Amino acid sequence: ALTGLPNRHLFRDRLIQDLARAEWDHHQVALLFLDLDRFKNINDTLGHSTGDELIVAAAKRISQALGDRGTVARLGGDEFAMILPEAGSLLEIEEAATRVLEELARPLVVGDGTEVFSTASIGITVFPADGLEVEMLLRQADTAMYHAKADGGNATRFFSAHMNEQAAQAMETEHALRRALERRELHLNFQPIIDRKGNTVAGCEALVRWTDPVRGPIAPRDFIPVAEATGLIVPLGAFVLEEACRFVQDCLGEDIDLPMISVNVSARQCRDERFIELVRDTLSTTGLDPARLHLEITESVMFDETASDPVALLQAIRALGVKLSLDDFGTGYSSLSNLRRFPIDILKIDRSFVRDLEEDAEARSLAQAIVGMADSLGLEVIAEGAETSGQCDVLLNLGCHLIQGFHLGRPMTADAFRGFLRNHATASSTHTRSA
Ligand code: C2E
Ligand code: MG
Ligand code: MG
Repeated sequence: ALTGLPNRHLFRDRLIQDLARAEWDHHQVALLFLDLDRFKNINDTLGHSTGDELIVAAAKRISQALGDRGTVARLGGDEFAMILPEAGSLLEIEEAATRVLEELARPLVVGDGTEVFSTASIGITVFPADGLEVEMLLRQADTAMYHAKADGGNATRFFSAHMNEQAAQAMETEHALRRALERRELHLNFQPIIDRKGNTVAGCEALVRWTDPVRGPIAPRDFIPVAEATGLIVPLGAFVLEEACRFVQDCLGEDIDLPMISVNVSARQCRDERFIELVRDTLSTTGLDPARLHLEITESVMFDETASDPVALLQAIRALGVKLSLDDFGTGYSSLSNLRRFPIDILKIDRSFVRDLEEDAEARSLAQAIVGMADSLGLEVIAEGAETSGQCDVLLNLGCHLIQGFHLGRPMTADAFRGFLRNHATASSTHTRSA
């Protein structure tokens, strides 16, 4: 009613008719699904009436952009669908979709004069090339739309069979991971962080490992994104945090010093409002001294649009006595000046900067600039991914003495790392400078 457009039901009828005609005339029909990007955000921050205004305006713009080439319907919420009953070539279909996106991307002035920008994601499937069945085509357009969104939005994606394979694989991984969590098939590896000034062990990073009984070892890059997308990262992260804290306590119990352990935390975990509780509870049940715990976040935590208040969360974590590291620094979008707004203790220089240190003068000056500015902001620096002694030397010369990398130690099992600690002196936790 809001937009005066056909609803889902009418749209389906229309699609069936168009497909029947196309089959008869031997031409293509394109089905497009459109979803406004970050609409929920606009609705939450600017209110429902603004949200409604935006929907009405979007409906108008989509209809205008399509003209008499196709039918538009509103499937519900901020979802629209379009049919191009005589679609022509893929290029023409893409052009039509692009015109819709361009039309939508123009700023919109709402009620009180606020300018709203809203982009959209479009998924496209084509009859008969992609499928013949109505239900199947609807699902495909939806899948393609999600891919457009996952790639950052304001984009169009054509459905491909590959997308189904990916989806099936992600679903399989999800099921297996759920089971692995229940059966405790996950465990931690530990990679030393070395203080090259005195060649002592400054601490370690905890890295999760998964060995599936059938599929064998699965790399974090193949299951962490699935865990994040499905929310499984929340129980997984809780497991990792507890195991990590326990590991330090076990070491200390055996008279093996481990000054600190660094645990990766993903943006999705930080969005969970019980996260701070989890950290507090885990520290108290394991009895770990908070000063020995570091949490590694990435820039995505700080710029998470859907998080309520990242700065407050980070402050609350620090108030527990836990330190915060910014992981993979240099690969995201923050500038160092931006960092001042965020309560961070340590920067971890991404390994892409470390890799070229020996050959590339530019990489060297970048690393030097990061170290220098971090220093003036009172931040500690850890370099990641040092694979040669030459890289370690350059880093030490640049003033970065905390180093993690295969050259100094690969990720190891708990037993192996306990052995490593027995053979190496540690920098007692009081030696790590606090920011
Ligand atoms: P990260 O936090 O940046 O972890 C460092 C990664 O670099 C680890 O890969 C480590 O094995 C690898 N690495 C360390 N030194 C070297 C080196 O000298 N050369 C090379 N080529 N690689 C090196 P890993 O264990 O495969 O982990 C990959 C990513 O998965 C991590 O990147 C982190 O983002 C994520 N991850 C791992 N464990 C967890 C976890 O428990 N929770 C969450 N949320 N993410 C995790
Ligand atoms: Mg890390
Ligand atoms: Mg890293």
